[in-house]
Amino acid sequence: MDVKALYELQKVDTAIEQAKVALEKLPERTHYALAQSDLAHVRSTRDNLRREQSTMEAELADIEKKSVDIDAHRAKLERQMKTIIAPREAEALQHEMQTLAAQRNELDDRGLLLLESSASADEDVRKLVESESRAIEVEATTKQALDLAAAAKTEELIALQERRVEVASSNSDSDIAIYDRLRASYKGIAVAIIQHGVCGGCHMDISVSELDIMKRLPADQVAECPNCNRLLVR
Ligand SMILES: [Zn+2]
Repeated sequence: MDVKALYELQKVDTAIEQAKVALEKLPERTHYALAQSDLAHVRSTRDNLRREQSTMEAELADIEKKSVDIDAHRAKLERQMKTIIAPREAEALQHEMQTLAAQRNELDDRGLLLLESSASADEDVRKLVESESRAIEVEATTKQALDLAAAAKTEELIALQERRVEVASSNSDSDIAIYDRLRASYKGIAVAIIQHGVCGGCHMDISVSELDIMKRLPADQVAECPNCNRLLVR
C-alpha cells in the first residue's frame, strides 16, 4: 500500500468536498435570493395597491350612481313642491328634500376622500413601478453574477474530479476501498501525517517509542496511529 499516494488522493478528495460546499454556499446565491424576494415584495405591494384602487374605483362609481339617483329624486320633489298647496304636505316634502340633500353631501364628502386616496395611491403605484424596474435590474445582475461564479466553481470542481481520476490510478482498487472505508468512518481523514509527534487525524501525541517502532517497520508495512488507527504517512 502506497500511503503517500493515498494521502495525495485524500488531499484531492478534501478539495472536491470543499469545492462542492463552496458551490452550494456561494455568496452570489444569497444575493440573488435576496433580489428575488425584493422583487416579489415590490410586486405584491403593487398588486395589493392596485386591488385597493379598484375597490375605490368601484365605490366611486357607486357614489356617482347614487348621486344621480338622488338628484333625479330631488328634481322630482321640487316639481311636486310647485303644485302643493297644503302646508303640511309642503313641510313633509321639505323634510324629505333636506334628508336627500344631507345624503348627497355625505356622498360628496366620501367621494372627495376617495379621490384624494386614489390620487395618493396613483403616486404610490408610480413609485412602485419604478422600484420594480430597479428590482428587475438587480435580479438580472445578481443572477448573472451567480451564473458566472457557479460556472467558475463548477469548472474548478471538474478539474479536481479529473485530477482525482489521475491520482487514484496510482493506487490499487483494494487500497482505495480500504481508504474509502476509513474516510467514511474517520470524518474524511483516512490518512494522517505526523507533525511534532502528534497525529494529524486525532491530534493525540504519539510517544517516542511508538514513533521509533514505526520507523523500524519494513517499507512494505503500513504504520497506523496507535490512538485512532488512521494510516500514517511515514
Ligand atoms: Zn491518530
